[in-house]
Amino acid sequence: MKKHNFSAGPSILPQEVLLKASHAVIDFNNEGLSLLEISHRSKSFVDVMEKARALVLELLGLEGKGYKALFLQGGASTQFLMVAMNLLEKRAGYLNTGTWSAKAIKEAKLLDDIYEVASSKEANYNYIPKGYDIPEDYDYFHCTSNNTIFGTQMKSFPDSPIPMVCDMSSDIFSRELDFSKFGLIYAGAQKNMGPAGTTLVVVKEDILGKVSRKIPSMMDYKLHIGAGSMYNTPPVFAVYTSMLTLEWIKGLGGIKAIQELNEKKASLMYSEIDLNPLFKGFSTKEDRSMMNATFTLQNDNLKDTFETMLKEAGISGLNGHRSVGGYRASMYNALPIESVKTLVEVMSELESKA
Ligand code: PLP
Repeated sequence: MKKHNFSAGPSILPQEVLLKASHAVIDFNNEGLSLLEISHRSKSFVDVMEKARALVLELLGLEGKGYKALFLQGGASTQFLMVAMNLLEKRAGYLNTGTWSAKAIKEAKLLDDIYEVASSKEANYNYIPKGYDIPEDYDYFHCTSNNTIFGTQMKSFPDSPIPMVCDMSSDIFSRELDFSKFGLIYAGAQKNMGPAGTTLVVVKEDILGKVSRKIPSMMDYKLHIGAGSMYNTPPVFAVYTSMLTLEWIKGLGGIKAIQELNEKKASLMYSEIDLNPLFKGFSTKEDRSMMNATFTLQNDNLKDTFETMLKEAGISGLNGHRSVGGYRASMYNALPIESVKTLVEVMSELESKA
């Protein structure tokens, strides 16, 4: 039986993407060779890379606006340093909204001066700070659109006077935004896009080339752009699978259609958390994430019963991160609404048993 997969990442991918990707591992394009056996310089794979890069810009509404899409390696965690290497000359402003923001700050501090424009650390990151200033003379402003661990999400973004850099690892392609507000967006593939192994970077070319430091080749966005995202051997399987997911999103009607589905799923989930007295949401209501709903069970005596019921219903990946505890329902793009309905039914059945 296929389980209801609420895993925070790596996480659920569309079934049709998995089927096509597994076919390509055996026989890519019906050419008699596996995707994993062919040269990344072959026309067949170059076409995949080009299609994936073009689809990213198309879905984000960034075609013809001076942006380039790259599929790099090293995870979003490498971007924490790579962003600073390419953009940090004197000082940068960071919004500290969780573990991943804090890690981004730590890496950038290796290179230069970082100023935290605001932080919600004192409240174990259960809200998104608002009303902060972004100094005009800084090099860039960095934020995290969705805090995977704590279940908070930025609902709006400041009008930044300097390039805005955003870690969108856990909500990329999940909702419509004015993506042209951002100078650079990055996202590890393993939530809304594909398997672990590639990281999407979307960068506005004119923000690059302004720092005086020498940038090592693999860390240099300009070099990757010049090489068509093929400076070295790309993670072919991760890029191909990401391309299939991007096609799937386009086929559904683009980000707008996905957002409507995601809103329905989140609304079902949060209604149950709010109405069922056995459960309590972790994050402030106005900042709740549409991707990761974090909540606790109020009565410890019911924990074993609840977890047995979850298992019997085929629900997987619901454990909360250790820094929050409780449960986390990750409702990424590919999670069917039926999975959320099943979880909500189990939660309400627990209430009737209590
Ligand atoms: N940023 C966010 C918001 C994340 O959720 C994660 C991983 O869960 C990361 C960064 C780190 O990503 P990676 O494991 O690709 O380095």
